[in-house]
Amino acid sequence: MSEKSVIIIGAGMAGLAAAYELHKAGWNTVVLEARGRVGGRVYSVRDFSNGLIAEGGGEYIDEDHTRMLSFAKEFNLPLGKVGSWQGQSGDWGAFEGKAGPLENTSLWGANLNDEYHKVWVALSELGRQVNDPAHPLTALNAKELDSKNAAEWIEAQNVRPLARELFTNHIRSEYTCEPKHFSLLDLARNAALYYSDPETWHTAYRVMGGNDLIPQAIAACLPDLRLNTVVMSVKVQAQEVVVKYKQVDSFHTLRAAHAILAIPLTAARMIDFDGTLPIAHQNMLNGLSYGAVTKVMIEYRKRFWHEHGWNGRLNTDLPIVLTWDATSHLEAEHGILTAYTGGGPGEALSRLSDDERIKTAVSVIEDIFPGSSEMIENTRTIAWVNEAFTRGSYMAYAPNEMTAHWQALFSPAGRLSFAGEHATIIQGYMEGAVESGQRAARELIGRQ
Ligand SMILES: Cc1cc2nc3c(=O)[nH]c(=O)nc-3n(C[C@H](O)[C@H](O)[C@H](O)COP(=O)(O)OP(=O)(O)OC[C@H]3O[C@@H](n4cnc5c(N)ncnc54)[C@H](O)[C@@H]3O)c2cc1C
Repeated sequence: MSEKSVIIIGAGMAGLAAAYELHKAGWNTVVLEARGRVGGRVYSVRDFSNGLIAEGGGEYIDEDHTRMLSFAKEFNLPLGKVGSWQGQSGDWGAFEGKAGPLENTSLWGANLNDEYHKVWVALSELGRQVNDPAHPLTALNAKELDSKNAAEWIEAQNVRPLARELFTNHIRSEYTCEPKHFSLLDLARNAALYYSDPETWHTAYRVMGGNDLIPQAIAACLPDLRLNTVVMSVKVQAQEVVVKYKQVDSFHTLRAAHAILAIPLTAARMIDFDGTLPIAHQNMLNGLSYGAVTKVMIEYRKRFWHEHGWNGRLNTDLPIVLTWDATSHLEAEHGILTAYTGGGPGEALSRLSDDERIKTAVSVIEDIFPGSSEMIENTRTIAWVNEAFTRGSYMAYAPNEMTAHWQALFSPAGRLSFAGEHATIIQGYMEGAVESGQRAARELIGRQ
């Protein structure tokens, strides 16, 4: 068997980026993908009218996500600019039974944007405790920070309670978990990585025509990609890796010198490794926590939000956490509002049927804008914890998990390498998935 043979498990951004890199370097690659499509958590929903599209999964490509941006360029995919997903003028809140612009002092007794800004200033200070976000365990008090949770830190901020609630929603939206389940060390690491300057917010993009055009374009360059192929077992041996998979009703065995596991750890827990993983990797695979998130996408025949000076972004204490205009980069009469709900509220919505989840989101907006539901043309929803080949949103380190598992996450288990949004310092992003795949590929190429 050639030493330059590799099986890549999963055709999300991580697996595709790894396969593309290895294929270009002359390796013999086979990609195995459980779903009938590529892209995984990059999933553009196209069943709206007038050609409108909304992203069911990864949506915002930040201006410094150079790997994703360079794929868009390489495959001639135009981008639509959207504002910062952190905050924009025209942001609204719906708290304590009142709704309106966050800066409207008469609603909540203070300009909530100003109060919230104080938390971002404190966050940038927290980030100074992590000198090197790529090596967070080298921070002086890493262990202590990792033993704490983000809720304690939020509680300690000397700001109005609603500003603390806005930041709780930030944790629910960005890390898709409850603050009490989120390691303070990872919050500090992320602060060092992205939020060192509280005055700067990141601009972002969406691919015109759908973000999943990127994974589709990469897939088209690969020689052997098998869809509807569910990996059931992986045996990591001294000379090879043996992978068994199911395609419809038949079972197959494939052998290669190496394999890359580019699937969420939640999905990897369904694979039988037959005791061939080192204990640190097995513990990491079983032990790392994931968040929960749902999206409800509502197409309205008219962008009624513009008439109210509202940009579509709503932060709430209601069953949906956050909304935004998923079509803000497109010129059209119709528009789509996405209700994005993570953490505890996301778990609660995931337990509902699709119809009930949609009804919940629609009624929150109807209560604030009576009559809006009469303008609805189409609705779609997805709850990622219920997806058999995802089983969560993305990884979210709970307290003490960085100390326990960081090392194993970044080292191969013999002939098996790990890739995915979890196995990167740019964790939780499409960009991170690509980085992890390219890194795993280069490490293999470097081993030859
Ligand atoms: C709702 C939501 C919103 C997001 N928003 C953003 C955003 O705005 N910006 C951003 O950058 N990122 C965002 N992300 C994160 C981003 O989408 C992910 O980090 C990234 O797409 C993950 O890529 P991946 O390759 O690691 O995993 P995945 O995309 O999950 O790919 C893994 C693949 O493995 C396959 N698989 C699973 N099990 C098996 C098996 N047994 N056999 C074979 N194949 C298998 C799956 O079907 C899947 O295709 C969001 C994610 C979600 C869920």
